[in-house]
Amino acid sequence: MGDKNIVVVGAGVAGLTTAFLLSKNPRYSITIAAKHMPGDYDIEYASPWAGANYMPVSAKGTPAEEWDRNTWPPFFDLAKNHPEAGVHFQRTEIYNRKKDVSSATAAWFADLVSPNPWFSTLFDDFREIPKTELKEGIDNATCFTSVCINTAIYLPWLLSQCLKNGAIVKRAVFKHIADAAAPGVHHSGRPADLVVNCTGLSASKLGGVEDKSVVPARGQIVVVRNSAPAMYATSGTDDGPDEACYIMTRAAGGGTILGGCYQKGNWESQPDPSLAIRIMKRCVAICPELTGGKGIEGLDIIRHGVGLRPVREGGTRIEKEKINGVWTVHNYGAGGAGYQSSYGCSQAAVKLVDEAMGAKAKM
Ligand code: FAD
Repeated sequence: MGDKNIVVVGAGVAGLTTAFLLSKNPRYSITIAAKHMPGDYDIEYASPWAGANYMPVSAKGTPAEEWDRNTWPPFFDLAKNHPEAGVHFQRTEIYNRKKDVSSATAAWFADLVSPNPWFSTLFDDFREIPKTELKEGIDNATCFTSVCINTAIYLPWLLSQCLKNGAIVKRAVFKHIADAAAPGVHHSGRPADLVVNCTGLSASKLGGVEDKSVVPARGQIVVVRNSAPAMYATSGTDDGPDEACYIMTRAAGGGTILGGCYQKGNWESQPDPSLAIRIMKRCVAICPELTGGKGIEGLDIIRHGVGLRPVREGGTRIEKEKINGVWTVHNYGAGGAGYQSSYGCSQAAVKLVDEAMGAKAKM
C-alpha cells in the first residue's frame, strides 16, 4: 500500500487515464471519486458520447501536439495487442474543401485537413489521395490508418485496470475541489496528500477552480447498426459553419457514429431532430456504402446522442497549485481531443504529481 494518498476527481477519460498511470507507482494509494462513472450517460459526462477516434487536431509546435504524439504509441499497442480494450485500427480519409476555410469546423480541423500535417510522419502509411481519385467538391485529401475506440468498452476497461492496480472507486459530488482532500474521501479515511482535478466542463463551476475559460462545444451524433469501410472527416458542410461531417465504426459491435457539429457555447442536452436528419444525409452522401445505395432510409438507428466537449481557451490545463493548502494537479479542458490526447496529458499530469509528492514514478 502506497504512503501518498491521492484522490482523483473525475471518471471520464482524463480521470481514468491519469488514475491508471498513477496506480502503476506503488508509492501512490489512489481513490477515484466522481459523480458519473462508466456505464452512465449524462450531459455532464462527455466521455461516453465521444466517437472516439485518433484524428489529431492539434497545432504544430504546441504542447497539444506533444500530448497527441505521446498518445499514439499506447493506442497503437492497445489496438495491436489488447482486443479486450475495445480499440481497433481503421483506415481514415480526411477531406478538405477550400470554401470551408472561415467556418468554425474548419478552424477546429485546420491542422487535420492540411496536406502536410505534423502527424504525416506518425503513421507509416500516411499519403495524400491523388487529385484524380477525389470525390466531387473535395480540393485535397489525405489517408492513413488510425484507431477507433469503443467508449462503452474502453472506459470500463480503463476502470478495471485501475482496480487491478489497487485503486478504490467511489461516487462523490464536490462543491469545492479542496473538499476532495477532506478526511473520509480517500479510502484510508485520512486527508488526501494531493487531489487531481479531472472534472471536464464542470471545472467552469467547481468551487476553487471556477475556470470561466472552459465552455461547451456541443456535439450531436447518431449511432447506427450500419458499418462504414473507413473513418471519414470533412473540413465543413454546406449546412452551417458549426456543423460537421464525420463517420467512424467502433470496435467490437459498438455500431457506427455519424456526426456531427461543434456548437460553441451551446448547453442544449437534447438532440435536434432536424440536425439529426442533416447529419444522416451528409454521412450517406460521403459514404453511400453505409446503406448500399438505399439513402438515409437504409440507416438502422440505435440512438441519438448529445455530448458537450469541454473546450478551454488556451488549451487543456495541466498545472499544479496549492488550493486551501492542498496540492492540486489539474487535467481538464481537452475539448474535442480528450481521447487522442489522453495518455500525453495524463503523463504530463503524473509528472506534476511526482514533483509535488517528491516521488519518482516507476513505469
Ligand atoms: P468528462 O468525461 O466529462 O468527465 C468528467 C468527470 O468529472 C465525470 O466523472 C464527472 O462526474 C466528474 N465530475 C465533474 N464535476 C464533479 C464534481 N463536482 N464532483 C464529482 N465529480 C465531478 N475526443 C477524441 O479524442 N476523439 C473523438 O473522436 C471525440 N469525439 C467526440 C464526439 C462527441 C460527440 C463529443 C461530445 C466529444 C468527443 N470527443 C472526442 C471529446 C472527448 O469526449 C472529451 O474531450 C473527453 O471525454 C473529456 O473527458 P474528461 O474526462 O475531461 O471529462
